[in-house]
Amino acid sequence: MNLIGERIKESRKIVIKIGSNVLSNDQGAVNRDVLHNIVEQVSDLIKQNKQVIMVSSGAGICGVGAINKWSRRGDMNYKQALCAIGQVELMMAYKEYFSDYDIHVGQILLTREDFKDPHRTLNIRNALFTLVDEGVVPIINENDSVSVDEIKIGDNDTLSAHTANLWNADALIILSDIDGVYDKDPKREKDARLIEEVTDIDQLFAQIKIGEKSSFGTGGIETKIEAARLVNQYGLSMILLNGKKPDIIKKALNGEETGTVFTGR
Ligand code: ADP
Repeated sequence: MNLIGERIKESRKIVIKIGSNVLSNDQGAVNRDVLHNIVEQVSDLIKQNKQVIMVSSGAGICGVGAINKWSRRGDMNYKQALCAIGQVELMMAYKEYFSDYDIHVGQILLTREDFKDPHRTLNIRNALFTLVDEGVVPIINENDSVSVDEIKIGDNDTLSAHTANLWNADALIILSDIDGVYDKDPKREKDARLIEEVTDIDQLFAQIKIGEKSSFGTGGIETKIEAARLVNQYGLSMILLNGKKPDIIKKALNGEETGTVFTGR
């Protein structure tokens, strides 16, 4: 087993974040096979006595798929409307797949304001602990329909890091469409080299070249690295894996696949 496998194995409480690019196919529609496979892996982790909270992007893409119009409307109100429609579709898909394993899901939509207010933070914590203790998988997303710039977290990488800290998780796993952090953008430069372990984030930024984010991505690689900094501060590891690869978490756990682990030490 490698370091990533060990980290997943020793973690009991895991937050798993799924990026929009993982959930979308080349035509910009929802990739149901990927979603189904991730649900299967989460169910497997729960069978192994682990607790999981999911943070899922993808409402916008599901909205386009559901209503089959407005995909090119750039206006904020249409984007918000698409997310409102797509969030229902996304949750329906999660509900359908998790029900095969007799697992219930609970939806929590959050904004930045929720993490600033101690009263709300306590309520989120209580809701998360209760859901997980009762065997339910909470699925969190940013409340895109009400989040204008002033109250927006802006990307689910940061949201997943705040969630992991708030819930006292042991690890945060971010599933994106690349194997991990490279010394340069792997989509544009063929000789890019995967960095498997990061102990010092400032040193990492000095060492790598950051390219553009992918078509549906909101944060890019930078927000993923910043998410690692946020959780490392509290002693949690962050693991970046390629969520487009079937059974990636299972294989990483067995040491058959790798990614980037931010150990923070
Ligand atoms: P997600 O939808 O999973 O949140 P993003 O598009 O926001 O994904 O961010 C991941 C993208 O960041 C990758 O597809 C990759 O092309 C790009 N990227 C740019 N520079 C790097 C780098 N140095 N290492 C890894 N990925 C990089």
